[in-house]
Amino acid sequence: MAIIVQKFGGTSVADAEKIRRAAERVIKAVKNGYQVVVVASARGKQTDELIADALELNPNPPKRELDQLLSTGEQQSVSLFAMALDAMGYDAISFTGGQIRMITDSDHTKARIKSVDAERIHKQLDKGRIVIVAGFQGIDENENITTLGRGGSDTTAVVLAAALGAEQCEIYTDVDGIHTTDPRIFKNAAKVEQISYDEMLELTSLGAGVIYTRAVECGKNYDVKIHVRSSTEEKKGTIITHEVPQMEGVVVSGATVQKDMAKIGLVGVDNVPGNAAKIFACLAKAKVVVNDIVQTEVSPEKANLSFMIGISDLAAAKKAVEQIKDDIHCERIFVRDDIAEISVVGVGMRTHYGVADKMFSALAETKVNIDSITTSEIRISCIVSKDQAEQALEAVCVAFELDKPAEERAKKD
Ligand code: ADP
Ligand code: ASP
Ligand code: MG
Repeated sequence: MAIIVQKFGGTSVADAEKIRRAAERVIKAVKNGYQVVVVASARGKQTDELIADALELNPNPPKRELDQLLSTGEQQSVSLFAMALDAMGYDAISFTGGQIRMITDSDHTKARIKSVDAERIHKQLDKGRIVIVAGFQGIDENENITTLGRGGSDTTAVVLAAALGAEQCEIYTDVDGIHTTDPRIFKNAAKVEQISYDEMLELTSLGAGVIYTRAVECGKNYDVKIHVRSSTEEKKGTIITHEVPQMEGVVVSGATVQKDMAKIGLVGVDNVPGNAAKIFACLAKAKVVVNDIVQTEVSPEKANLSFMIGISDLAAAKKAVEQIKDDIHCERIFVRDDIAEISVVGVGMRTHYGVADKMFSALAETKVNIDSITTSEIRISCIVSKDQAEQALEAVCVAFELDKPAEERAKKD
């Protein structure tokens, strides 16, 4: 019997009515002959509320205790979900991450999954039960509860789909699929029918919060077909899959804005072998994830180096570079937390010219200054001032006609 994993996000299980509606989706899949594994997130804004509770008592809560607390949100959802299915006449059993041996490393609040006991789930499915698993959580080798990072239930779902050999992983959410950009910011954003793992990895790591980056990464690595779709409407959503030749025709598949980031610059660092290694060794030790590193030689003796980080890592990153400052003879450290990054992404960029020109012209016409630019094979990103972020994104979306479906925008040459 084929297995399907269905993940319901916070808004899709926010209250009793929504849980019932989600349960109906599950029952439909059962009636279609599937063995169903459900992954549920905490209800509504519960994770935010639990974090606020923690911060009220301790502005810097121990991460182990934070994970212990946050995991309760998902634990409530799964038991309620199982109760709803029971009331509707279906046999269901809920599990926490620990109960299905979702083993992670010990990096609290951003743990990575190492393995899962798929057998325990198979046994329950074979008894004819619907299995409901708490997303976002696991346990480390010492039985401490861990969480996977905000949005991490998506990862739970994709990892389970891979481990169980599921036919596909459905991500039910409050939008009807992946759009060319966040429809909350650019309301005319077009829905995308299908998108490659690589484009989606770029989009999510650049701020498209519709699905968690690690989930897409696992989907790519373990060949899991991911279907992002609406929890309220029946229609097909967006399929995330391997690249197919037609995708090359679409020059820009999506645009993003990322506001929760900061930039650190090290001015006048000694231009000698080993300094960059020293700086990034310090940052790695502090577990800071670094993006978009730029180093330029300003004289034979001196270089400037800057990099981007998530704003939540700013304090740790600042501390790390201050420790190394004198050792590398850095003249000055500057920090900017008033910036946003606007990006366009598309596999078609590899083979089509004029993308940079179009993006920079759109920003210039909107009088948005570009602080710095970075590129990869399939993306262009510009750092702009945070207070101009929305207008910059809108200008870029209009320039690339991201309100039109991909078929209309595709280049035939
Ligand atoms: P869930 O609680 O179901 O996990 P999320 O809030 O994590 O839902 O993700 C859904 C939200 O992602 C949407 O409401 C939308 O505003 C946002 N979003 C950001 N970028 C995109 C995009 N490119 N396409 C669709 N939605 C996006
Ligand atoms: N409940 C967690 C969060 O709000 C995990 C998730 O929703 O995926 O981030
Ligand atoms: Mg989410």
